[in-house]
Amino acid sequence: MRYVQEFRDPKAAQGVLRAIEAVCTEIGCTADDPLRIMEICGGHTHAIFRYGLDKLVPAGIEFIHGPGCPVCVLPMARVDDCVEIAEQPGVIFCTFGDAMRVPGTRKSLLQAKADGADIRMVYSPLDALELARRNPDREVVFFGLGFETTTPSTALTLQQAKREEIGNFSVFCNHITVPPPIRALLEDPHMILDGFVGPGHVSMVTGIHCYDFVADEFGKPIVVAGFEPLDLLQSVLMVLRQIAEGRAEVENQYARVVPEHGNPVSLAAIADVYEPRPSFEWRGLGEIDASGLRIREGYRAWDTEAKFGIGYGARPKVAEPEGCACGAVMTGRMKPVACPQFGRGCTPDTPLGALMVSSEGACAAYWTYGGARAVAAAE
Ligand code: SF4
Repeated sequence: MRYVQEFRDPKAAQGVLRAIEAVCTEIGCTADDPLRIMEICGGHTHAIFRYGLDKLVPAGIEFIHGPGCPVCVLPMARVDDCVEIAEQPGVIFCTFGDAMRVPGTRKSLLQAKADGADIRMVYSPLDALELARRNPDREVVFFGLGFETTTPSTALTLQQAKREEIGNFSVFCNHITVPPPIRALLEDPHMILDGFVGPGHVSMVTGIHCYDFVADEFGKPIVVAGFEPLDLLQSVLMVLRQIAEGRAEVENQYARVVPEHGNPVSLAAIADVYEPRPSFEWRGLGEIDASGLRIREGYRAWDTEAKFGIGYGARPKVAEPEGCACGAVMTGRMKPVACPQFGRGCTPDTPLGALMVSSEGACAAYWTYGGARAVAAAE
């Protein structure tokens, strides 16, 4: 398969690993004093564990798992809002599957569905728009969730709804953006990070220059990476080379997919439909300035918040469940296996926190690729 097999080639991987080892020796990083490299994207976290890259790289490299899983960082109060909307008579609530099991205060969307709410899993916001066309007497709400990767698809769907004047469709906007939480992490005096592996899919939309501040203001290297094992190893090597040479730059390892200046059609659609909120709450990180998007005035008739009178921040903030360490894991201060609930009170079948629910969550990655066996062996 073109662009896949060559990025899984074991011989090539061995060569990159030897180069990584040589640069680690040159830098002098060790297991006791490792370089801490954060992969921002949950897709990268899963690829690292799926291919065992954390075990293949030298002990002088520590992967820190960042907040790049939109389901994981969604505050519980917004899940409660979803349940409240979905349980209203006449509503068809549409969502991607991975948001169905995220725990809310009272219940998840899956539990609300079991209790009778008309909640449907869709693969695209266009599926939800089609449901609105077919059910003119029902109110169809699409749960807009995700980073810049998914924001263009809801923006284009809202443009289409406006063109067709489909009045029984709206989007509950929970879209968020990647650069503000990176800044928040870098401004945290307790975070020690030596470099970043940047998100490939997000950057396909945004381009690479939204990360310039990482290098220019904070002096940290960042390399936008693809998702195959060789992509990730090569990106780690690029970060290490920058550190060894005393450079801090934004580099693009995923140039076969990521254009330097992003996708102009997607960026135009986002700018037309959305504007930044003053701030948005991130689970584990708190309120972050200008990190969330809301629907512009021109699309107000398709904004679920306006239609259902659900203002952002109207609901009191909800604390994490007792014993849940999602916030510490998401900010790289704790490994999932160190959470007292990991594999005990919290498993993929009975998730306590969102990091165990989403396919991109760090705890789900640890559980799937060895954590379950480790817990079983310890008990
Ligand atoms: S194991 Fe569960 S409770 Fe602990 S951090 Fe992970 S998701 Fe949260």
